[in-house]
Amino acid sequence: MAEVQTFEHDVIVIGAGGAGLRAAIEASAAGVSVGLVCKSLLGKAHTVMAEGGVAAALANVDDRDSWKVHFADTMRGGQYVNNHRMAELHAREAPERVRELEKWGAVFDRTKDGKILQRNFGGHRYPRLAHVGDRTGLEIIRTLQDHGIHQGIKVYMEVAIIRLMKEGDRVTGAFGYYREKGRFVLFKAKAIVLATGGIGKAYSITSNSWEYTGDGHTLAYEAGADLLDMEFVQFHPTGMIWPPSVRGILVTEGVRGEGGVLRNKDGKRFMFDDIPDNYKGQTADNEEEGWRYCQGDKNARRPPELLTRDHVARCINREVKAGRGSPHGGVYLDISWIKQRMPDGEEHIRRKLPSMYHQFKELGDIDITKEPMEVGPTTHYMMGGARVEGDTQMTNVPGLFAAGECAAGLHGANRLGGNSLSDLLVFGQRAGQFAAKFAKDNKPGSVNSDQVDDVARWALEPFERTSGTEGPYMVQKDLQEMMQANVGIVRREDEMTTAVGEVQKLWDRAKKVRVDGNREFNPGWHTALDLHSLLTVSEAIARAGIERKESRGAQFREDFPEKDPKFGKVNVIIRKGPDGKMQVIQETLKELPAELKQIIDEMQK
Ligand SMILES: Cc1cc2nc3c(=O)[nH]c(=O)nc-3n(C[C@H](O)[C@H](O)[C@H](O)COP(=O)(O)OP(=O)(O)OC[C@H]3O[C@@H](n4cnc5c(N)ncnc54)[C@H](O)[C@@H]3O)c2cc1C
Repeated sequence: MAEVQTFEHDVIVIGAGGAGLRAAIEASAAGVSVGLVCKSLLGKAHTVMAEGGVAAALANVDDRDSWKVHFADTMRGGQYVNNHRMAELHAREAPERVRELEKWGAVFDRTKDGKILQRNFGGHRYPRLAHVGDRTGLEIIRTLQDHGIHQGIKVYMEVAIIRLMKEGDRVTGAFGYYREKGRFVLFKAKAIVLATGGIGKAYSITSNSWEYTGDGHTLAYEAGADLLDMEFVQFHPTGMIWPPSVRGILVTEGVRGEGGVLRNKDGKRFMFDDIPDNYKGQTADNEEEGWRYCQGDKNARRPPELLTRDHVARCINREVKAGRGSPHGGVYLDISWIKQRMPDGEEHIRRKLPSMYHQFKELGDIDITKEPMEVGPTTHYMMGGARVEGDTQMTNVPGLFAAGECAAGLHGANRLGGNSLSDLLVFGQRAGQFAAKFAKDNKPGSVNSDQVDDVARWALEPFERTSGTEGPYMVQKDLQEMMQANVGIVRREDEMTTAVGEVQKLWDRAKKVRVDGNREFNPGWHTALDLHSLLTVSEAIARAGIERKESRGAQFREDFPEKDPKFGKVNVIIRKGPDGKMQVIQETLKELPAELKQIIDEMQK
């Protein structure tokens, strides 16, 4: 019998970014006992890194905005394969969630008359992103943490969960290890909320930090939950590309929202060359109009640099491939030019984009108030994830909920910037509410000690292998490079089929990796365990990518470059089959209710 420390709560929340914290606050407020578990220190999550802002139709800057416009923008951005119920709830409830943060102490940037200021972002028709300079995530996490610690939530830091426990169909616990001491820990719970964030570390160029290995996606999959639309991985158009050590670090879309423009090596604003038909009516066709839009002119249309991320990333890719890129394989993003229009331009850039100014100065020795940045696409966000019921956020496994980036549905084929912070607030709140309800409505289940022993034995195998010589890092690196090369921005069936085969070979290598030393402070061991998640999500992305034989949103297929109306009616589901193998299933989307269809039709005019 493995030596395991055990804790019991009504609700366990795995992940303490925005979604996890918001869920924990809500569940705790409902009067149940809540444990909040995170892989690193509390407060160190992707949410804290968020820069540009949180999308909510507050209509503070442009009174034409409303939940209906936000809903229609989100559906259009997601190319209509979104879960329409989630898109509706999100657009309706985001303003209240943002105002609530303000009540809890968040200090957003202000309009002249003292309201929450909102900025422009790609795919949003009106200025919609509430922000704090370019450090919005920090303010959100600080506020949620401050509020949360007064709610009686018990926090378990530096604990990585590696398996969920089940009794029959239902989840009853979560098993993991303390990263510091290597000891095992079991959390028994009536309901579990997954809020573990993204999968960026499956790729070699990413804006994501070491924690984002797709753990929640894999925990859900192994527990029998469906994964939805795993083919949709967002490549953000603007990551740093030079020097090599910082490649992939995000350059916020806020730069373009403040008037930053994209140019190729010939100085041409190439985004004007390719404006998709469904955005033509909303997009400026000349530089003058684009600038007026950034200055708040309500009669102007937005510049093409603020088209959706999938499209901008592909245009950058095209320029580089055509030999019109910058010296290090990207393009130029220039905000310094606004000095020609604004006498206090340099001061404005430093005030509105303090992190970007600092980031480029410190890491690249570039002063963005004086010269352009070199940027290129970077793996940024996962639209695919655990399939949840829109209102409650429960997966198809009773008692298992998911929210934030590890859940799916809201964003469809492409997420609009700013819609993640609002997603995690709206659906974190709902997941907490309904997890607490589930815990109240159900008796505690039991955890089978054989299940615990099996996982503990599996986790310790890398120490016990005597024949293997390979460590986990080479497998991780080879996987990341293989995914970057074969399942990246531009995809083809033969390359993705190669990827599926390569993943199998990497599984074989992962099963033989050996780690030395003991369980205390052993990052090699942690990486060996992370491989399970990384390989699972990589296989799911490649298989789902093969299944969707069309180009839509974040998935661009060179062999099927157009949208196919047939695929516009389906989601791709990944499920663990009874034989343990990954199944890929197409499922028809639910019919759009007439009133939502009407909103979309009206907004298209
Ligand atoms: C640089 C950057 C800038 C961004 N800017 C914006 C923006 O301006 N606007 C916007 O809307 N979105 C933005 N995003 C996206 C957004 O920040 C994320 O999608 C969002 O914060 C995800 O929140 P989350 O709560 O789902 O997960 P996260 O905030 O990623 O938190 C995940 C939590 O899960 C924990 N965890 C993971 N695995 C395990 C495990 N196995 N066991 C226990 N705990 C685990 C982690 O420790 C962490 O606590 C940005 C992302 C990045 C990287």
